[in-house]
Amino acid sequence: MKKYVFILILLVSVSLTAQRENKVIWITIDGLRWQELYKGADSLLINEAKFVYSKEELKQKFWKPEEKKRREALFPFFWNEAVDKGVFLGNRQLGNKFSLKNKVLLSYAGYNEILTGNPDDENIKDNSKLNNPNKTLLEILNESQEYQGRIRAFGSWDVFPYILNEERSKLSVNAGYRHSLRENPSPNELLLNKIQDEFPKRWGTVRFDTFTHNYALESLKYDKPLVTYIAYGETDDFAHEGNYQKYLESAHKTDKMIRELWEFVQSDPFYKDQTTFVITTDHGRGEEATEENTWKHHGRSIRNSEQSWFIAFGNNVKELGEAKSRDQYFATQVAATVAKLLNFNYKEMAEVGPSLPVLID
Ligand SMILES: [Zn+2]
Repeated sequence: MKKYVFILILLVSVSLTAQRENKVIWITIDGLRWQELYKGADSLLINEAKFVYSKEELKQKFWKPEEKKRREALFPFFWNEAVDKGVFLGNRQLGNKFSLKNKVLLSYAGYNEILTGNPDDENIKDNSKLNNPNKTLLEILNESQEYQGRIRAFGSWDVFPYILNEERSKLSVNAGYRHSLRENPSPNELLLNKIQDEFPKRWGTVRFDTFTHNYALESLKYDKPLVTYIAYGETDDFAHEGNYQKYLESAHKTDKMIRELWEFVQSDPFYKDQTTFVITTDHGRGEEATEENTWKHHGRSIRNSEQSWFIAFGNNVKELGEAKSRDQYFATQVAATVAKLLNFNYKEMAEVGPSLPVLID
């Protein structure tokens, strides 16, 4: 009898240890500038009638004379809660820099760099729907015994199945206007499928982030992935339209969605205190608000497009808050950081990284 009890205890403790593996929620927010993240609404843009359609209402919500209050108004979750649980890199006003290494500075090139740990200007010159010749960390994880079938990806942009090369990687990629990919969709997912079909489409290749977000949330509830990648997209499209109002509102809403993910994670025994959030962007944007209006766009010819930022918070992240050191970090270090969080020995990463110095050893 004693022997059985011992074996039982052993089995329970083994399964508990297995459950205590770190999970990661890896997020990108397309083309969200470090300027808004660290300084809040831009005084030049928020006061320009051609970029906002109800200035007073918008200023009521997002304008505060003091910079710290302004960024808190725009990103209340990031600045009132997440900052105390992790590290924020890339406030260039303090000399802390986070940059992309690729020179293309369009979305595909940025996502490739973040997800693989390497820029590839030879093969990725634009946003064409070409299967990525490079393997992302998600694909490499999905090839391993431990992570196979335990990774989920969600994106608002319909190029993600190519960036993640779903044909080769066999990853589950719910992007563009796809429905839930789960075999037995939940009632919420069935409703999301229906509303997504019936909703007017503002852009042909990018859906509104609410669909991406809620499909991801349902997957967290029912699939319990070990790694979840979520690519929010609206911010970039509204900026390209020159719609600063919608860009700000979307940035604000994304902060709220990330809060919802965090609150879900902390309420769920599978994820609670065992999950790390890693958040970054695929590129910066220009700064000028006059004549050229470079703030709307990004790319090789637009100055400051390489300027990015990085946030990590949750389990295993040092509680350093906003980094004030005069250091330079790169998007090529993100994949190595996620691999380290998972304790995953990523052989192909010999050339990438090193991981960012934000994790508790
Ligand atoms: Zn863009």
